[in-house]
Amino acid sequence: MQIENPVFIPGPTNMPDQIRQAMQIQTIDHRSPAFSERLNPLLSDLKKVFKTRVGEVITFPASGTGGWEAAVTNTLSPGDKVLVARYGMFSHRWIDLCQRHKLEVEIIECQWGSGAPAERFAERLARDSEHEIKALLVTHNETATGVRSDIAAVRHALNDTDHPAMLYVDCVSSLASMDFRMDEWGVDLAVSGSQKGFMLSTGLAIVAASQKAIAAIDSAQCPRCFFDFRDMLDANRNGGYPYTPPIQIFNGLRVSLDLLLEEGLDNVFARHYRIAEGIRRAIAAWGLELCAISPDLYSDTVSAIYVPEGFDSNILTEHAYHKYGVSFGIGLGEMNGKAFRIGHLGALSDVIALSGLSAMEMAMKDLNYNIEPGSGVAAAQEYYRTCAEEMLLNLSKAG
Ligand SMILES: *Cc1c(COP(=O)(O)O)cnc(C)c1O
Repeated sequence: MQIENPVFIPGPTNMPDQIRQAMQIQTIDHRSPAFSERLNPLLSDLKKVFKTRVGEVITFPASGTGGWEAAVTNTLSPGDKVLVARYGMFSHRWIDLCQRHKLEVEIIECQWGSGAPAERFAERLARDSEHEIKALLVTHNETATGVRSDIAAVRHALNDTDHPAMLYVDCVSSLASMDFRMDEWGVDLAVSGSQKGFMLSTGLAIVAASQKAIAAIDSAQCPRCFFDFRDMLDANRNGGYPYTPPIQIFNGLRVSLDLLLEEGLDNVFARHYRIAEGIRRAIAAWGLELCAISPDLYSDTVSAIYVPEGFDSNILTEHAYHKYGVSFGIGLGEMNGKAFRIGHLGALSDVIALSGLSAMEMAMKDLNYNIEPGSGVAAAQEYYRTCAEEMLLNLSKAG
């Protein structure tokens, strides 16, 4: 019998049974009230996850990359200048997308492992007295390096320089796992997808647009058809979709949102922090280094870990897959061969996290890494045990 292990890649993530079962439904007529009655509550619950009251949520049958394309093409024109910092594979891919749409992309190169450079943005924006820069593009959680950036600091860079550029944020691997505050941070376009924090299958790009972004639609000249915000917003207002919606994913999304909102977003974030912190303690016990260059940048959804000099991280991840049936993330771009990644987002518990650490220890031991088997697991166990004790203590105090 083939027993399936959870995946430890940073998306697509493990799908809870409730969500998988919710996706096993017979076709319903997407032009019937059965669909329209479901759509609006989904969109308003998604707003709670983005923490926006004033923005609109727009979905497309696509992966996260489609969400980027939609955000850019609906609000910008060829030749528009955009400012982007490159500090990992996903910020790099976003730059590539803008260039292919003939935007003029100004790139701030940053060390991989660092985050969005708010001060360098501020310095550049201050020099842009003609306001040629139309947009600032930031990746909230750089999944290649395990770095979470400070979006509030980027907003301050715009505010302090009185710059009207719109703020675009990729939150594909952070939304619904780490705190994201669209309105408070003044985000104009937030891009996410179904297969990470939402614990769903791939197939839904989930975008939120501020009123300023929506006002930019009419003057934006980038060609778009499938991804036209106007068609989607008009159809959604009438409870419909401009083309065939992915019914099964929407049904899964209903359950995903119920699970997230029942747990409570703050508890979801606290769980992700706890699991991530246990994993970081394991990494430290192994004597390995994270790619993220400082603790304030540590991501609670993915850790990218350098292998020691002389080892190839691809051999490690392949070995874990073939011998133990466990998938870890490979090193992307300039991290390839040098680092592996542990995805720790979505439907995870302390105990599931321990199983991934244990599998990684076996794989490293097999390949003669200089680590003590059990050392990482023990460090994480110790952390999870004390957290659980504290939680029980708080409960008994509250009770
Ligand atoms: C996963 C991911 C994406 C989108 O990838 P898709 O494969 O198109 O869904 C974009 N940005 C980040 C930071 C990601 O982690």
